[in-house]
Amino acid sequence: MRLILLGPPGAGKGTQCKRIIDKYHIAHLSSGDILRAERAAGSDLGKKAQGYMDSGALVPDNLIIDMMVKAMTGASQGYVLDGFPRTTVQAEGLDKALAKAGEKINAIVNLIVDDALILPRMTGRRSCPKCGAVYHILTLKPKVEGKCDKGCGDLVQRADDTPEVVGNRLKTYHQQTAAVVGYYKSKGAVILDIDAAQEIDQVTKAVFQKLDNLNK
Ligand code: ADP
Ligand code: ADP
Repeated sequence: MRLILLGPPGAGKGTQCKRIIDKYHIAHLSSGDILRAERAAGSDLGKKAQGYMDSGALVPDNLIIDMMVKAMTGASQGYVLDGFPRTTVQAEGLDKALAKAGEKINAIVNLIVDDALILPRMTGRRSCPKCGAVYHILTLKPKVEGKCDKGCGDLVQRADDTPEVVGNRLKTYHQQTAAVVGYYKSKGAVILDIDAAQEIDQVTKAVFQKLDNLNK
């Protein structure tokens, strides 16, 4: 199965992807996670990306398309794309790569949530730099405050989850990313709209229901 998860920053894409990959045994290809790993490794790509990421702008399309196509090539068991595509140019780049490989996306999971819910979600987000698990200081607390449940150690707050950068990321989302849903609608893709304002487990239930129906 090949999926795309769309939604604004803080919609719960990463959280739901972790659950999707556990159930359907596919790879989680998160453009944000791959970029953060490139930065941590001090690679050329990481260095080029850092200024954009820190300000809440998008990393240039050509860098992202190459990076994600490479990641997709290694995921023969299927995948869920998280955070990509974020522009219609990226969506076109993805279409070209899929056509070349003779592959298709089965469905697009579209997480819908109002801007007003985003800021508290993102400023309360804490994540594990080792295993990537995502928590929230109010809605998804770790068992021990500030520590990953899997024994990895301290949780961190992402540097781009400050109110100012979150504001920029939301602006970027509306200016450049929201149009991606329209792009796929115009292509007649299977789009599964999900109310992502619900509690995390309710969102998961709705996602699983729609994905299970796909396979019937
Ligand atoms: P994204 O990958 O879309 O940016 P995340 O999955 O990282 O979003 O979620 C952002 C933050 O909001 C995390 O702290 C997460 O625990 C929390 N969160 C995710 N989904 C929900 C939800 N449905 N209700 C409340 N909080 C949520
Ligand atoms: P979130 O999960 O909160 O939506 P991400 O972890 O996906 O945030 O992305 C963090 C930052 O990485 C973005 O603000 C952007 O600078 C960069 N980035 C991630 N994915 C893309 C992409 N597809 N195109 C351009 N920039 C990206």
